[in-house]
Amino acid sequence: MNYFVLKGRAALEALDNVQPVDTPECPFDWRFVVECTSCGEEPYRAIVINLFAKFQVENSERTWNFRASCEYCPSTHLALIRRTKGAFREDCEDEWVDLLHIIADGIKFKKFREKKSIWHGTSEFGSKTYENINLEYSSWCDYDMDYYQLICMDNARFQIVLAEDIYEKMFKARDGVVHQVAMLSKKLRI
Ligand SMILES: [Zn+2]
Repeated sequence: MNYFVLKGRAALEALDNVQPVDTPECPFDWRFVVECTSCGEEPYRAIVINLFAKFQVENSERTWNFRASCEYCPSTHLALIRRTKGAFREDCEDEWVDLLHIIADGIKFKKFREKKSIWHGTSEFGSKTYENINLEYSSWCDYDMDYYQLICMDNARFQIVLAEDIYEKMFKARDGVVHQVAMLSKKLRI
């Protein structure tokens, strides 16, 4: 089992609280380049994980969000994702923000593919909401005609970090109680 965090940073202008559009009606496609931990090969295409997809797997009490067979060896690839409360903030350009926690079995997460993702954010002026922020070119701009103000998200970057304390963070956030990682692993049998 491997634990990862997807982190992001971006420069915002007159824009705040940028987050993925991720609802049951309009789920966010979390696209990643991954690598099989058994054979070391990358799937031909980036994998797509949907937070609302549910998969049960034999010998695991967890409900996973992604399940696939390796294209090159008999290994099964599993992933479970949880959104953090992280968002891109106008005053946090220099900070990496935790966006997603990932638990993975059989795969190593290498890169986030943000090109086709759609985000939403709030204008600094008049609380106007922008629902169509896409990062195809790593940046996005609009113009607020009411305030004669350019609204921008620029230089968006992402990285995936291997992290061993995600269990604790994930379940601490859910239960409001700090659990020991070992106890949780035992309880959940994963
Ligand atoms: Zn493989």
